Amino acid sequence: MKVAKFGGSSLANATQFAKVKAIVHADPQRSVVVVSAIGKEQPSDHKITDLLYLMHAHLTYGVGVDELFAEIEAKHRAIHRDLNLSLDLDGLLRDIRNSFSKTLEVDELVSRGEYLSAAMMADYLGYTFIDAKDCIRLNYNGSIDEEKTYRQIQVLLKQYPKVVIPGFYGSLPNGKIKVMSRGGSDITGALCAAALEAEVYENWTDVSGILMADPRIVPQAKAIETLTFAELREMAFMGASVLHEESIQPVKSKGIVLNIRNTNDPDHPGTRIVNAIDGEENKVHFITGVTGRQDFTVVNVYKESIAKFPQVMTQVLELFDHYHIPLEHLTMGIDSFTVVTATSKLKERLYDLISDIKRQATPDKISVEEGLALIAVVGRRMRETPGVSGKLFSALGNHAINIRMIAQGTDEISIIVGVSNADYTKTVQVLYDQFIG
Ligand code: ASP
Repeated sequence: MKVAKFGGSSLANATQFAKVKAIVHADPQRSVVVVSAIGKEQPSDHKITDLLYLMHAHLTYGVGVDELFAEIEAKHRAIHRDLNLSLDLDGLLRDIRNSFSKTLEVDELVSRGEYLSAAMMADYLGYTFIDAKDCIRLNYNGSIDEEKTYRQIQVLLKQYPKVVIPGFYGSLPNGKIKVMSRGGSDITGALCAAALEAEVYENWTDVSGILMADPRIVPQAKAIETLTFAELREMAFMGASVLHEESIQPVKSKGIVLNIRNTNDPDHPGTRIVNAIDGEENKVHFITGVTGRQDFTVVNVYKESIAKFPQVMTQVLELFDHYHIPLEHLTMGIDSFTVVTATSKLKERLYDLISDIKRQATPDKISVEEGLALIAVVGRRMRETPGVSGKLFSALGNHAINIRMIAQGTDEISIIVGVSNADYTKTVQVLYDQFIG
């Protein structure tokens, strides 16, 4: 069987609902459908989840919510009317309105977006609606109780073979509703797939998979056909974001194929993410993708023969930890050691951090450079192929791009170069042309 999760843009209006129905009914294996709340029809629109968060703030401060709720009602009513649904939508909307109070819990209210879209989709598909609060179990700290969740999904699915489940929320041990972090419907889909040992977890969105580079920089960038979960991590960490990070582990650990598909182009095979790729399939592309981010800061700590003074490094790292500044990269030379971090995370703490480092770690010198961009060339096959870094450096050299930092990612599946922000776009384009284009 297959679990199919549809994101908010796949549910933005009746036309999108109809596309979902055609997709689900085209394959009888698609027996578990997970949905997000209704998303944007056009860029200027508001997501239902955003409106619900805003409504909650209004309720808390005693500001009127009529206008906001009217917008939410109108969106759902239009779909209900256009699709001729028999569901008692008015009753469901009334229940939500009746719950309004200053003390209404934010999770309770915000979860209603997914609740409504799933109830409508179940009606439209002729599938059973299963409330996520009856199967997705969360702990008080927000983590998932996988064991209880899997058991509950298995029990319910034995009883109801074709179901629609709202994404994004579940229940706490005391029965109260708890939402996940934003984009959490991806996690719900992954949990269903893992619980049922699905053959495929299909994640339907509005792009035809993960692209080999950011299309705003490389307009001709193609979708990646297949990549490994490890490569996905490298791509995502450095900027390409399609899926919620926490949706990976449940499917990866059960060896389930994750397939990203486009609701607006259902014939496109999308991107498949798997544990390992071998044989013919592995021969397609040498480089999987090029990705990156701008605005990093480099902190260089100098001390002659630094390796002899490990406490300098320990103290510097402890101070980063003390100020809750996440590290992006660490490199070490004979007389210095370099920490790269996102500039946004450093901002107001920079002054304190530097003076603490000077005082506690007593380096010979310390320097700070802003405006670094990091670009990762990701590819599982680089490990087995000599000469990749040579090609990379000469391509950048031929285009007069100055490399300010070099690092290798996990398990030799990526090479990371640091260039100045001003060279970011050009670097991505040159690397795409060199290795993929
Ligand atoms: N509706 C929620 C959000 O906008 C969850 C999701 O779409 O996955 O974040």
